[in-house]
Amino acid sequence: MPKMVKKDKPADFIKFLGTAGARFVMIRQLRACGGIWISCRETNVIVDPGPGSIVRCAMSRPKLDPSKLDAIILTHRHLDHCGDINVMIEAMTEGGFKKKGVVYCPADAINSDSVILKHAIDFPERIEILRENSIYRVGAFRFKTSMRHIHPVETYGIKFNLNKIGVSLLTDTKYFEDLCSFYNTDTLILSVVFFEPRAGIDHLNIHDARQIISQIRPKKTILTHFGMSMLAAKPHLQAERLSKELGIEVQAAYDGLTLHF
Ligand SMILES: [Zn+2]
Ligand SMILES: [Zn+2]
Repeated sequence: MPKMVKKDKPADFIKFLGTAGARFVMIRQLRACGGIWISCRETNVIVDPGPGSIVRCAMSRPKLDPSKLDAIILTHRHLDHCGDINVMIEAMTEGGFKKKGVVYCPADAINSDSVILKHAIDFPERIEILRENSIYRVGAFRFKTSMRHIHPVETYGIKFNLNKIGVSLLTDTKYFEDLCSFYNTDTLILSVVFFEPRAGIDHLNIHDARQIISQIRPKKTILTHFGMSMLAAKPHLQAERLSKELGIEVQAAYDGLTLHF
């Protein structure tokens, strides 16, 4: 659970630089899609910097400085997750003049049709390929990848600890039962694109979310990555309903939401 901030050391936090899910909410910018900034004992990581991520960092209050990034993680190559990857690499490496930082991504993000431009690929200290069920470490931040998700491109969610609290980020996928065995953390960030089931599209809907939350019973769940149908159904009302029905804290993320640990 989030704790009071101690003054002597900077607290760990997660900030939502966007809560848009899938194409139309992104295109219309009904919600921003800047990704999630994680600060862990002064190691700074951004996950899925979609279009406008750099703008969201600059407009954030207090400002988030992407030149202070230690890593960029792409859960998968879809545009709403990687639109600003190149500019974020430039920012992390101070315009490419300072070789630093790590980029983590699945192999298919850079193999044939790379989302990272040729000129930017040598800027970071290294690129690390994400594989399923593997552990990675950058500075004070250590994370584990999930099993491969069911999604049209290679996709992995992650889990990690902030101030000894387990946090997981369940990114785009079709529902499958095994998800709960990996994402059983105290804090669960859950990507719920659809309100109703949509056949043939590999995304979670609110019924899947209910199923996952009731099985894992995390102390706190944050719904995010909303598509058009979820926005129409008002995410905060859906979160409130799930909270009441399941007796668990469920919150809908909004752009700029910060969780302290
Ligand atoms: Zn997505
Ligand atoms: Zn996707």
